[in-house]
Amino acid sequence: MEAARAGRAQAGLLRQTRTCDVLGGDRRLVDGRVLADFCGNDYLGLAGHRHLVAAFTRTAAAEGVGTGAAHLVAGHRGEHAALEEELADWTGRERALLFSTGVMANLGTLQALLSAGAMPVQGRTGALCVQDRLNHASLVDGAHLAGAELRRYPHVDAHGAARQLDARPGLPALVATDGVFSMDGDVAPLAMLATICQERGAMLYVDDAHGLGVMGPQGAGSVAAAGLGAKDVPVLMGTLGKALGCAGAFVAGDASVIEAITQFARTYVYTTAMPAALAAATRAAIRLVRTDPEGRRDRLGANIARFRAGAAQLGLRLMPSTTAIQPLLIGSTGAAMAAAATLEAAGFLVVAIRPPTVPPGGARLRITLSATHTPKRIDALLDALGRLPRALESAAV
Ligand SMILES: *Cc1c(COP(=O)(O)O)cnc(C)c1O
Repeated sequence: MEAARAGRAQAGLLRQTRTCDVLGGDRRLVDGRVLADFCGNDYLGLAGHRHLVAAFTRTAAAEGVGTGAAHLVAGHRGEHAALEEELADWTGRERALLFSTGVMANLGTLQALLSAGAMPVQGRTGALCVQDRLNHASLVDGAHLAGAELRRYPHVDAHGAARQLDARPGLPALVATDGVFSMDGDVAPLAMLATICQERGAMLYVDDAHGLGVMGPQGAGSVAAAGLGAKDVPVLMGTLGKALGCAGAFVAGDASVIEAITQFARTYVYTTAMPAALAAATRAAIRLVRTDPEGRRDRLGANIARFRAGAAQLGLRLMPSTTAIQPLLIGSTGAAMAAAATLEAAGFLVVAIRPPTVPPGGARLRITLSATHTPKRIDALLDALGRLPRALESAAV
């Protein structure tokens, strides 16, 4: 491990945990300096919303903090049951099942779907899992955990997915994709993937960590935005720690598939249930997101448009994203690190994302926008981006 660590250090790829304390709104205290946060995933600014905080503290005062047991033992509270019902209703599915994190939801659900019932062949389960090359790490890990045959296709290439399915006919197959890609911000070709899966009897699984809350009618996510329902995407996964401002995750689908996941997903069965206070806060978040009485989705949309228009004027090479994730591709790791440091000196927290999170040569500034950003703050960030030395930008591939 030390050799591997030293190798990463040599390549400029060491990661560092920094303490970022919240000062309210988009302001963070980092190493004694106040920075404007442009890299978080609290897209609607709900994490500090008074309704969420009130629901959280009220429930913690009444029920305590920890649940003390797994859902299937004695940790399942009324707040969890109500949240699962509300998630199912919101996403238009029969049932939803809570997980403690999105990583655990992907690991456990893919492990359950790809291994339960499928016959082991030469140490593998005999199931096929086809995935977009830029899927979140936990989807890839879930397929490995299941012992499934994993085949990947070029980014957002639905025909590539079809080719991978056709290469292994006869196997029980599942296609998994991010709805909105976490490091690129673009949207998966969901309608085409749904058709391809239906034609071949494969199951489509969508991880909507970055679409839920911000896209589609009532913020129901990228699947709803594409006009697709439970028939097209039988298992939908969403996280509660991004636009919903809380923590945790869920999968939603037909009652029968959710019941099977309940039985076989080891990251569900063997872990302590999330705090009931968190479930209560999430319910408050869903109420706000569905009706959006404060117009937060519109504000986020206006902020995205303002940022993209300003960046185009400056000649910055943004990636083709219409979502809150607006990466600026730099290319080399050193240049991306230098750009992030320059922005930090100017008062902005924008983290450089480097390999292996992104492909080699794909280091970037992953800029994210939130409803809490003021137009003035966005203009100030654009100004700082415009002042980045040309040398950093010309490193772009
Ligand atoms: C963040 C993220 C996850 C993991 O969710 P956590 O709740 O943070 O564990 C899963 N999938 C995607 C696409 C993500 O961006």
